[in-house]
Amino acid sequence: MRRYFIAGNWKMNLNRAASVELAAGLVSIVGDISQLDVAICPPAVYLEAVAAELSESPVSLGSQNMHAESSGAFTGELAGPMLADIGCRFVILGHSERRHLMGEDDGQVNKKLHAALLHGLSPIVCVGETLADRQAGRTADVIRAQFEGSLAGLDADQMTITTIAYEPVWAIGTGEVATPEQAQEVHADLRSLIENSYNQEVGSAVRIQYGGSVKPSNAAELLAQPDIDGALVGGAALDVESFNGIIQQVPG
Ligand code: PEP
Repeated sequence: MRRYFIAGNWKMNLNRAASVELAAGLVSIVGDISQLDVAICPPAVYLEAVAAELSESPVSLGSQNMHAESSGAFTGELAGPMLADIGCRFVILGHSERRHLMGEDDGQVNKKLHAALLHGLSPIVCVGETLADRQAGRTADVIRAQFEGSLAGLDADQMTITTIAYEPVWAIGTGEVATPEQAQEVHADLRSLIENSYNQEVGSAVRIQYGGSVKPSNAAELLAQPDIDGALVGGAALDVESFNGIIQQVPG
């Protein structure tokens, strides 16, 4: 049985005081989340301040990115051991903003994925098609290529620890959300890809989040789909009421 997993990606937003306030507010409001996983991914510079707020809580800490090397001359980068050292449990890899704005490709995402697993971090690997891909009928091909490239070379245990976030690029930060049917179709395709590459047991164990304009008002329908195991939330994670509102839609 897969545990639902709701993660908030704060991106490059908030300041120190607002980050601490949002984390503390979430901890105080979230209630019993023993049946699911909840994580927040603040800007790197606030990870430690947020970690202090989460220390006695069931809410986990995640990073928005990491470097593939474990140390060295990589100015401005963050290594997996550093993230583990300050209490990160999760790391988002291959977010579409990094793929499209910073030019990250599947090969780089794959190196980061192996490094994250090596350092005991649980990765959330993002995949998703652009609007042009969808309109040209290329969604399934793009998702397959990203799955094969970004998630290459994992053994069954590593695949099971890894979460995949299906995030159609056209739905991120746009207010436009994939219909539950559109999302379910891609999630089912991803699960088949996992089953075909590993086996049915691994396929049914891997969590696949949906991301793209998830809000309290659309979360229930999305989370009710058989292959949607949670959400990766951007804008709505910046407000304690709306992020908690999404968490509260997780089927009991
Ligand atoms: C995201 O950043 O991963 C995301 C899905 O953003 P939003 O919820 O704002 O669309």
